[in-house]
Amino acid sequence: MSTPFISRRVAVIGAGAAGLVAARELHREGQKVVVFERQIQIGGIWAYDPRVESDPLSLNPNRTVIHSSVYSSLRVGLRRELMGFKDCPFIPKDDQTRDPRRYPSHREVLLYLQDFAREFKIEDMVRLETEVVYVGLVEDSNKWKVRSKKKRANSDGTYFDFEDETYDAVVVCNGHYTEPCVAQIPGISSWPGKQMHSHNYRVPDLFRDQVVVLIGSSLSAAEISREIAGVAKEVHVAARSVTDETYEQRTGYDNMWFHSMIERVHDDGSVVFRNGRVVVADIILQCTGYKYHFPFLETNGIVTVDDNRVGPLYKHVFPPSLAPFLSFVGIPRKIFPFAMFELQSKWIAGVLSGRIDLPSKEEMMEDVEAFYLQLEASNVPKSYTHNMGDSGLELSNWLGALCGCEGFEEWRMRMFYASTFLKRLRPYTYRDEGEDDDHLILEANQDFIKDTS
Ligand code: FAD
Repeated sequence: MSTPFISRRVAVIGAGAAGLVAARELHREGQKVVVFERQIQIGGIWAYDPRVESDPLSLNPNRTVIHSSVYSSLRVGLRRELMGFKDCPFIPKDDQTRDPRRYPSHREVLLYLQDFAREFKIEDMVRLETEVVYVGLVEDSNKWKVRSKKKRANSDGTYFDFEDETYDAVVVCNGHYTEPCVAQIPGISSWPGKQMHSHNYRVPDLFRDQVVVLIGSSLSAAEISREIAGVAKEVHVAARSVTDETYEQRTGYDNMWFHSMIERVHDDGSVVFRNGRVVVADIILQCTGYKYHFPFLETNGIVTVDDNRVGPLYKHVFPPSLAPFLSFVGIPRKIFPFAMFELQSKWIAGVLSGRIDLPSKEEMMEDVEAFYLQLEASNVPKSYTHNMGDSGLELSNWLGALCGCEGFEEWRMRMFYASTFLKRLRPYTYRDEGEDDDHLILEANQDFIKDTS
């Protein structure tokens, strides 16, 4: 590791996978790091919480937020080798209490992150149960005011202690799977049934003997619909990605149907789909995804969230005019999250210590504008700005080259394509099927040994 040039006081917001690896990289480069975490433990979304929010659609801005969207039966959707950080393999532990499966349950990811925090001595940097409520520039300076609130208790009950501090830099790692996107449904205000967002889904019991309309077509929507079908009277899945005529019974289920999107709902409880079918339903479950949300961040309009585009951000990390003292880890989606967080964190840490140069603010802004034009020319909706897909590999190589390490390894890409193929072919069983890829696991292990030695 190179000698750090500049040591700064850096606030990291969030102790999920992104915040933990950011803290490690910043510390490695000699920065003085404080990680703020509002939950009672580290791990972010992987800290399963059986509680749900008071407002089942999570629309009330004054509700108490429950961070995790993980449901009880969730098993990871990426193979564990693909999920881990580049230099800290997520491989099975020789321990009876751990889940050795290739696609383990959510608890195993939490344990992996706890091991990671312990191994790299990150725990001491974390302030638990401390929520950041305001981040803004200190007048006439590049420094940031960070206001946090910590829960305390005395004989009269619990109360909050507020603290204002000044930091040289802030790294935002607050996660993007907590603030729901909700579909607008004509007639919903007088529809008498219940509504819920999947953020508040934990177990299927509530759906027993109910007629359920589930909106969404993501991997978790598909899995939740199958789980609910095990107890519900009927499950009707509505997706906007299919043609208006779509109406099919789901193979292997006598109580589940696929529909096109909902056209409108009525005060007699009926739900009318675009395919013309009508169902009287008890509950609508919205598995409609999440929004980027930074309620604590005040940048005087420099950084905005517009139709789920966080911008302007140079390479999804630095707002040009506030760089390098404000940065974001974890904005890109549809990518190997942990490995991407690690590369982004190395870049931020290298820039803050002065080891890596950033282009001028004007050059960064030109790059952002060219990127937006390119998306527009390819008819990519604004809300897909941070969906990486194939461009994730390119970004990883670009970050790796800057940081002096490899981007996404060749074995990672090959294993990803092979497992994605199997997932598409057999979406119900891929997790428990053997895969003929011992050679890729061997390559992965060799890389891990190289990275960790
Ligand atoms: P989070 O894990 O959400 O952590 C953010 C942290 O910031 C939280 O601890 C939160 O409490 C804290 N925080 C937020 N605001 C504040 C504040 N104001 N003050 C202090 N602390 C704050 N990824 C995979 O790689 N594989 C999978 O199989 C997979 N499955 C998923 C399934 C579901 C249902 C969902 C929703 C996501 C899944 N993901 C999966 C994506 C997953 O979210 C990322 O992998 C990753 O864990 C996100 O890490 P993060 O640190 O960015 O955010």
